[in-house]
Amino acid sequence: MSLPPAVPVTDSPGGGSGSSASRPAAVPAGPSSALMRQLGIAQLGEEPMLRSTARPFVLPAEAGEARAVVRALHERLVAIRKVHTFTKGTGLAAPQIRIDRRATVVIDPDGQRIELVNPWVVDESPEVDEPKYEGCLSFFDARGRLARPLRITVEHQGYDGSPRVSVFTESVARLVMHEIDHLDGTLYADRMDVTEKLIAASDYRGTGHRWDYGSSGG
Ligand SMILES: [Zn+2]
Repeated sequence: MSLPPAVPVTDSPGGGSGSSASRPAAVPAGPSSALMRQLGIAQLGEEPMLRSTARPFVLPAEAGEARAVVRALHERLVAIRKVHTFTKGTGLAAPQIRIDRRATVVIDPDGQRIELVNPWVVDESPEVDEPKYEGCLSFFDARGRLARPLRITVEHQGYDGSPRVSVFTESVARLVMHEIDHLDGTLYADRMDVTEKLIAASDYRGTGHRWDYGSSGG
């Protein structure tokens, strides 16, 4: 689907600058987006890299660069998690900190860190979950509901260039797919059904709860 038309931003909290011309939300930029901008997260409408395909690492030749990018992503996530609680887990892809490379770090709902270098989703289960709300640090004043595969298979690489295959399920599959999408310039709003609309984060009522996958409990 295509994104909803951009709407004029009527206020500019936090003294934010820059155009919001390609913001996908019918949700004006507000305090949450301003906070993420202050924390150095590239904001949609201000950073073309968010809409482009990230450059893979050549491994092992660029192992040092890959380690540095993963470290930068992790450090930024730690900083963000000091000012916002992410009960559902969170993640960050390199283009969101203006690095045009194919790497992402995810912290799952249990606090486990997942680092992925040169990841590609190579298989998706035909089974999808019930549509669930996601947020994105690059347009954090909006939330939107979408279905995702219940299981994904991801090919990625170790720093030595060795091929790796990881399978993620349920909430972790959702988190990982959201971040790998960023490496292809895709946002969750692109995957929303036409019947779904973005809502303002202030109208979202799921904060503080994990996504419900029934059997996963806890
Ligand atoms: Zn995102």
